[in-house]
Amino acid sequence: MTNTISDAGPREIVGEPRYVRIERPAPQVMRIVLDRAEARNAQDPRLLYQLNDAFDEAAQDDQIKVVILAGEGPTFSAGHDLRATWGVSEEQQRLDAWGDHPVVTCWGGFTQPGAEGYMAVEEELFLGLCWRWRNFPKPTIAAAQGKVIAGGLMLLWVCDLIIAAENARFSDPVVAFGVNGHEFFTHAWEFGARKAKELLFTGRAFSAAEAHAAGMVNQVVPTEELQDAALEMAVRIARMPSVGLKLAKQAVNQSLDAQGQWTAVQAAFSLHQLGHSHHREVFNFPVDPNGAERIRELSAENR
Ligand code: ZN
Repeated sequence: MTNTISDAGPREIVGEPRYVRIERPAPQVMRIVLDRAEARNAQDPRLLYQLNDAFDEAAQDDQIKVVILAGEGPTFSAGHDLRATWGVSEEQQRLDAWGDHPVVTCWGGFTQPGAEGYMAVEEELFLGLCWRWRNFPKPTIAAAQGKVIAGGLMLLWVCDLIIAAENARFSDPVVAFGVNGHEFFTHAWEFGARKAKELLFTGRAFSAAEAHAAGMVNQVVPTEELQDAALEMAVRIARMPSVGLKLAKQAVNQSLDAQGQWTAVQAAFSLHQLGHSHHREVFNFPVDPNGAERIRELSAENR
């Protein structure tokens, strides 16, 4: 893997192949598109860092007031690319390759043995990047279609608004793997405590209508109108002054902070790491491999 990171100035979106593309569909609006449809926009380190670079470009471009996050193809994101993040030796090879790329944490130790290295990887790739995007200073709108599974939800939940296609289905079935949920654990804020528990305990997929009723999405639209609806919302928001938007976003986020959201997310992340450590001890694998069958059954139910 070639590292093409420049030391000087803002970095280009690095790496080939490109898994993220940038569009400017209207003045003051940037659309960041997950462009890995052949893998249902599954997230590996390359996609995540390219996404991070795209957010950085939007943050630094004073002409951009609103960002849409979209996914190419029938599925917004099927979650983490498990091949990329769970294969132990491969994981370490990848992090060696991307070793001077961490942008979020001062954690380090990515290739250290045991829980130290594993936790550092997820701290950087999943928790750290998500928290960074959650604090992106401009309004963000996620446009979600198809199956959004586990880590796919993380990319929705860091955004300010979520517009769902009628065909969207949201699930976090990883309790079947013996962990508490995906790494950016804002479930109780997104669905409310009771629905969050149902989502996690059953592993079933919630429809767009259910997610709307629970307050997890702002708007449900016909699938073919998803991108138009997101753009219409973005253009409407872009008529507001950027400073007002920034202050409003910060004010709401600070309300969540005052409720202890970040503290709770970090606590849940620790439990998630406990789950991984438990399974490495019992199965020599980061999750309970017996969960795969239940995940397949749930996926079949969700067709
Ligand atoms: Zn994990």
